[in-house]
Amino acid sequence: MSSEEALIDRIDRATPRAPLVDTFGRAVTYLRVSVTDRCDFRCVYCMAEHMTFLPKPELLTLEELDRLCSAFVARGVRKLRLTGGEPLVRRDVMTLFRSLSRHLDSGALEELTLTTNGSQLARFASELADCGVKRINVSLDTLDPQRFRALTRWGDLSKVLAGIDAAQAAGIHVKLNAVALRGENEDEIPSLIEWAHGRGMDVSLIEVMPLGETGSERVDQYLPLSTVRAQLEQRWTLEDIPFRTGGPARYVSIAETGGKLGLITPLTHNFCEGCNRVRVTCTGTLYMCLGQEDAADLRSPLRASESDEKLHAALDDAIFRKPKGHDFVIDRPGRAPSVRRHMSVTGG
Ligand code: SAM
Ligand code: SF4
Repeated sequence: MSSEEALIDRIDRATPRAPLVDTFGRAVTYLRVSVTDRCDFRCVYCMAEHMTFLPKPELLTLEELDRLCSAFVARGVRKLRLTGGEPLVRRDVMTLFRSLSRHLDSGALEELTLTTNGSQLARFASELADCGVKRINVSLDTLDPQRFRALTRWGDLSKVLAGIDAAQAAGIHVKLNAVALRGENEDEIPSLIEWAHGRGMDVSLIEVMPLGETGSERVDQYLPLSTVRAQLEQRWTLEDIPFRTGGPARYVSIAETGGKLGLITPLTHNFCEGCNRVRVTCTGTLYMCLGQEDAADLRSPLRASESDEKLHAALDDAIFRKPKGHDFVIDRPGRAPSVRRHMSVTGG
């Protein structure tokens, strides 16, 4: 690029652009980006034990990820969550956090955050805080070391707990995500909530979703949160609260613990009408809905030119196709998952 072209390009990227609004009038203000499909765990509901990961050249570079995220920010995205796979195992991922933090400094972005399994958090917590990360989600399904090892296949609970300590010590607000699993952590849900609330962490429970083959039957793992809620109500006073994030979570407060509990029921349709989010994979594929196969390739327009024009045109085209809602079903044993890609591809 000549210096003149570079100048035009810089002006171009700084120019405010039309917000991304779909045909149902929903503005896309929240982007989740999976920065890698790799992970240092193999959670039984998420991955098969032996996974084939993408060849490295398929992945967007950190510079391309920055450009892509920045294009979304220019189109009105206010909240950016890096996820995966495990985002903190991507080499030099802190360079990306560091560069994206400029959008926090400028006020264009309200929140830069991540979802992590916590295994590498002790190493990165203070640097994340330094990059303006104020709150994070840590996934933790059990506080029992053996059970933790069995559920994650490879994980070490003590590392995750050290990671949570480090994040809190760095002033980062931690929220726990736990997948509710029939016969696996069902009996432990109240003690997990009590432990988290005692440490000032809210908790969200997630219903298992039919994403990708893992070698286990989702029908066996599926525990409806309506059942969990009924069990919790025998012990505590739960009150619905209007707190919303535009996603599938509904929140209750628990009088006895003083904390908030999110109930994420992706198999119901009760959240699609307010959906404000889209997801991009580490290869630059944009999914307009977590529960649908339709996708748009953003890597080609990104790589086709150094200007962002083609990329913005692809975004307009894709958001126009954002569907009204998803098509999840968990029904008979032996059926293939209703969405073939794994959660670690799309990013949770
Ligand atoms: N590795 C990071 C972690 O575990 O937090 C980020 C990626 S992980 C795919 C994001 C979230 O998706 C985690 O909270 C995980 O428990 C959840 N998840 C993975 N597979 C799922 C499934 N099939 N159904 C529901 N939640 C799932
Ligand atoms: Fe890895 Fe997160 Fe999937 Fe577990 S849930 S295998 S930590 S990507």
